[in-house]
Amino acid sequence: MNMDKTREKDVNKTMEMDIANVLLTGEAIKRRIAELGEEITQDYQGSELLVLGILKGAVLFMADLIREIKLPLTFDFMAVSSYGASTYSSGVVRILKDVERSVEGVHILIVEDIVDTGLTLKYLKENLSRRNPESVKVVTLLDKPGRRKVDMIPDYNGFAIPDEFVVGYGLDFNQKFRNLPYIGVLKPEAYES
Ligand code: 5GP
Repeated sequence: MNMDKTREKDVNKTMEMDIANVLLTGEAIKRRIAELGEEITQDYQGSELLVLGILKGAVLFMADLIREIKLPLTFDFMAVSSYGASTYSSGVVRILKDVERSVEGVHILIVEDIVDTGLTLKYLKENLSRRNPESVKVVTLLDKPGRRKVDMIPDYNGFAIPDEFVVGYGLDFNQKFRNLPYIGVLKPEAYES
């Protein structure tokens, strides 16, 4: 029991040690999500809402957000991966996991962790729009507007952040750091190790 606790502490300590600074605390994120939830609740009154999370980064954000949306809703997930380096020029992404139901006539709210170049969301929005939904909107926790390569303005945005690589609260580096309860900037050493 005590051994387990010590080990757990060590793992957390290692993770924290790779963080240069905390950009957004867990408390700040929680407060903002409550605001977003209220706004979304008002906007979708009387609608059939499908909340569509993009794996894996948006999982934590989506889990907290849907509890702040006071409407009956369903949720599903999509997983996408880029076609290697060509993504940056073509914006083509591969769908690894698709929605499990027809989205015809449905209001879709895509939940994303971060909008960077905007290529992923542009592709997803176009792809989903071809399936005749009632509407397709986007909510993102983070936005790096300075990095945009295509026209993509999220309908709801948690925070605009500077052009720095961030981890935590669902966002990873090499699949790690997703479980940090805040958003932080990685130390350069962490990329190198
Ligand atoms: P976009 O197509 O907008 O360039 O790509 C967005 C995706 O890039 C996000 O879903 C995320 O996976 C990744 N990404 C962009 N910026 C960051 C960042 O600062 N940190 C992490 N962990 N992922 C990022």
